[in-house]
Amino acid sequence: MRLTIIKNLACYTINSKTDCIGVGVIKGRCECGSVQYEVDGEITDFSHCHCSQCRRLHGAAFASFGGIPRDKFRYVSGESDLKTYASSEKMDRVFCGNCGSNILADFKPEPGALYITMGTVDGDPKCPPGYHQFVGSKAPWYEICDDLPRHDTWPDD
Ligand SMILES: [Zn+2]
Ligand SMILES: [Zn+2]
Repeated sequence: MRLTIIKNLACYTINSKTDCIGVGVIKGRCECGSVQYEVDGEITDFSHCHCSQCRRLHGAAFASFGGIPRDKFRYVSGESDLKTYASSEKMDRVFCGNCGSNILADFKPEPGALYITMGTVDGDPKCPPGYHQFVGSKAPWYEICDDLPRHDTWPDD
């Protein structure tokens, strides 16, 4: 048995299968505290979206999302306060109906994933390298000042 440490997760590598033991829990909440959630494991995709919908919905220059497996996400409290807004046929935005905090984006073409809003995450979740998307729609008053990859629309396009 070989003990490996992957980011903040303590993982045992046994027979080439890796079983992670529970220290890698990401916690987050809305501003009023009603909606609380947990994610087992780690963020596998870290994006900063400059599209006009994200800018309006988040009231900010861009929105930051952490991609996670859907089956690793659970609500701890506040589910009755959740509201959903369909920003397009393919995208649902879930937010706290009490305080308005955006909690996650549910991109229907990816049923196995959810995109939590990084602004609601507590502490340092140890994100992978990020990237900017929909830079072609970015706010004219905001200048990107990092060396992360930039995509005019989706990263795959
Ligand atoms: Zn709230
Ligand atoms: Zn966006």
